[in-house]
Amino acid sequence: MALINCPECNAQISDSAFKCPSCAHQVRKPKRSLFGKIVKAVFIIFNIFMLYSVFTGMGASGEVINNAASDAERAGAALGAGMGAMMLGILWVVGDIIIGMLVFLTRPKS
Ligand SMILES: [Zn+2]
Repeated sequence: MALINCPECNAQISDSAFKCPSCAHQVRKPKRSLFGKIVKAVFIIFNIFMLYSVFTGMGASGEVINNAASDAERAGAALGAGMGAMMLGILWVVGDIIIGMLVFLTRPKS
């Protein structure tokens, strides 16, 4: 651990400090930990994946509804698609809350 001079008040501070203890000048920007970076990447990938699932899911169920032979089959497919979309929506929200909390907890501290 080396000592550097604060650019604001010239006090001797540790080079591992984020803020100068005497004038509170921010010397370095706190960085997200490796785990925090992974969590943030997972959060982004999860949202892209869910968005993709919703779009492909809607396309696939639309095809089933159009190709259905009977009204009953059509109704079943529509119901199934609705339930699937709801499940997907719940999964999306719950996943976002859990991963979002992890992103919040691993945010860089100053
Ligand atoms: Zn200072």
